[in-house]
Amino acid sequence: MIRLSPVVLGAEEERNVLEVLRTGWLAQGPMVRRLEDGFRALTGADHAVAVSSGTTALVAALETLDLEPGAEVITSPFTFAATINAVIEAGATVRFADIGTDFNIDPASLEAAVTPRTRALLPVHLYGKPCDVAAIRSIAARHGLAVVEDAAQAHGAEVGGERVGRRGVACFSLYATKNMTTGEGGMITTDDPVTADRLRVLRNQGMRAKYDYEVPGHNYRLTDLQAAIGLPQLARLEEHNARRRANAAYLDQHLAGLAGVALPDVSPGHVFHQYTIRVTGAARLDRDAAREALGERGVESGVFYPRVAFDYKCYLDHPAVITGPMPEAERAAAEVLSLPVHQHLTEDERERVVGVVREVFDA
Ligand SMILES: *Cc1c(COP(=O)(O)O)cnc(C)c1O
Repeated sequence: MIRLSPVVLGAEEERNVLEVLRTGWLAQGPMVRRLEDGFRALTGADHAVAVSSGTTALVAALETLDLEPGAEVITSPFTFAATINAVIEAGATVRFADIGTDFNIDPASLEAAVTPRTRALLPVHLYGKPCDVAAIRSIAARHGLAVVEDAAQAHGAEVGGERVGRRGVACFSLYATKNMTTGEGGMITTDDPVTADRLRVLRNQGMRAKYDYEVPGHNYRLTDLQAAIGLPQLARLEEHNARRRANAAYLDQHLAGLAGVALPDVSPGHVFHQYTIRVTGAARLDRDAAREALGERGVESGVFYPRVAFDYKCYLDHPAVITGPMPEAERAAAEVLSLPVHQHLTEDERERVVGVVREVFDA
């Protein structure tokens, strides 16, 4: 089976973890500091704050905004549940704006969703393709809103000549299947020293110095054991992202012209956390049947995500979740299918993916 998101760790990760074990310093320490330095170098941001997950990165970033109950945060209806959960946990209300054909939140819908209670915009760089941050920042400026970027799938992505996370506040996930990993982990980057300072205090129980509590905080800390895994992953990230881009370009070239298959666009700043096609009504079989047929022929594929993010009873019934019709997100949920694009694909496997996809969709 050609896997969709294999987790591959090497000798350097082993060496680094052993080094930490032998020092006996397991909690947040020098390895975490090095990982933060690495993220500053990756993104060009002035500050990087490591936390325990992508979800806690979002929660902590939203907490720095001091959102009052009823304050609204607008996000994408086509995302992982963590995006919604983070807003609820931060004590705010979540509202949605539909996506465009590129699967990311559509700036025009976003602006139309702004209400007098809106306090922040939470765009998601889905599949590693950056949102139109210039348009989103100008909407935020016009309405006096904060922006927190969900960059959980976009390590190293670029837009408008800048790395995602270079400016503003961006939240990365270091979960096992992301473009780089610490097992579980997260990182917040920002160019704002005040936000960075608040994040560091919030991360450590609200302590400014030992037993000097400034605010009620939390334990959002990452461990040195986790950071030890992330350092070699980060060192290889640019090379891995380049491979993902090359694999995506190869898939684009060799999958063109299949009836009922719409290919993603290969914009230069995309880091292809997923390579996601649409299986439309013109295909000879539907999306779920296609997924099964691919699996039978040894190619794993994935559906991210099978439903609109809020389309579950726990959110539909939730007083802090404001829903509405989201036709583009619904269409995406029905059509998307992600194919293997990761850095560990061999040339042979890449050819097999193409061969099998063509076999399944060719009339
Ligand atoms: C993975 C992910 C998260 C959450 O990150 P965790 O590290 O799993 O907590 C948030 N948003 C999106 C879009 C993700 O893909």
